[in-house]
Amino acid sequence: MNELILAKYGELMLKGLNRRRFEDQLLRDIRFRAERHGGCEIEHAQSALTVTPKEGADADGLFDELTRVFGLVGVGRAAVCEKNMESIRKTAREYIPGHLEGKKTFKVESKRSDKSFPLKSPEISADIGGVILEETAKRGQRIKVDVNNPDVIVRVEIRESRAFVSAGQQRGAGGIPAGSSGRGMALLSGGIDSPVAAYMMARRGLALDAVHFESFPYTSEMARRKVLELGRLLCLYLGRLRVHVISVTQIQQQLKANTIEDYFTILLRRSMMRLAGRAAERAGCRCLITGEALGQVASQTLEALTVTNDASPLPVFRPCIGMDKEEIITISRKIGAFETSILPYEDCCTVFTPARPKTRPELAKVLEQEALWNFQALEDEAMAGIVRYDLTADTVVEEL
Ligand code: ATP
Ligand code: MG
Repeated sequence: MNELILAKYGELMLKGLNRRRFEDQLLRDIRFRAERHGGCEIEHAQSALTVTPKEGADADGLFDELTRVFGLVGVGRAAVCEKNMESIRKTAREYIPGHLEGKKTFKVESKRSDKSFPLKSPEISADIGGVILEETAKRGQRIKVDVNNPDVIVRVEIRESRAFVSAGQQRGAGGIPAGSSGRGMALLSGGIDSPVAAYMMARRGLALDAVHFESFPYTSEMARRKVLELGRLLCLYLGRLRVHVISVTQIQQQLKANTIEDYFTILLRRSMMRLAGRAAERAGCRCLITGEALGQVASQTLEALTVTNDASPLPVFRPCIGMDKEEIITISRKIGAFETSILPYEDCCTVFTPARPKTRPELAKVLEQEALWNFQALEDEAMAGIVRYDLTADTVVEEL
């Protein structure tokens, strides 16, 4: 039987002048992401796409991929048949009972884009509903019609040149198409929060780059690999991701030797914002993204965030800001990052961490400390040593 994938996109955001741009972004993303499964053909009608795997492509892989494409609200499979009742009935008999196993109720909804089709939509629904009841009874399945609250909706669609029969639809990833909001730079640590933050902003249409700060040899090769693995996992949603790795070892050593201990963390975080800003500018990113949540740790009090924020040349988006850790963890699990995030490798933020970091830093005093020595030269050096990794979901990251 000939099967294809029906993908539905959210309509609300697609109204008006932006519609075309959104659609183009969405199609480009789907085409690119389908490549790793062998490619696809796409057609579109109203707010749905029909995605047909190319000859020899991995249809299951493609289906799963589409459930992770931002901008799609539903993804389902459909059997394709000729546009006549005989063929539709035959297809419904063969294709639908398997989708109804374990279910108690269903209804059939029909739609005709070809109004010259001899039966009207309600007539098609009644006819096919009858066929399905007959067939399931024959197979010993106990299922009834419930038009108000069915477990499964079977859909029959009469298109211009053919008909589709489908049952059930999986929720799509939601959000808006990749890149339709521009590009942002996500600050990616090896923790739980920052991959979630990156995912949330990507879902709102940001194409992403990521920056990771390390402090070799105080942080290990394993810590870097862990972040690359998180980046690879994010690629399941993003398609691809460039990770810029910047060493802050010298900056940290300098801070350790010359700064009042309490200010160590806040000065380091300000330096990270400046470095991320510079990497962002080079990569064409117009905002920074962090996994900060208000009050979660000493560096995330309102006062500390204010002082950190002051060092950023770009707007900083913090989608986790109002979330509890449990809520962040729920998303982390959903996107498959959690098990990697909790691997116990050190982060540069925790190397040399003072016993009692300032929870209420004052900007004036921080600026005073910052003026004591030449950050600029060290930051120039750190920028010169940037290492970049281009990741996709298929990148092989060495074992952790
Ligand atoms: P996470 O779980 O994401 O590590 P966290 O709660 O541990 O966050 P912090 O270590 O204070 O919090 O970091 C706050 C944010 O700063 C992180 O969410 C991330 O966006 C950024 N950040 C922290 N460390 C790094 C790093 N080594 N490289 C890049 N960004 C970092
Ligand atoms: Mg962290």
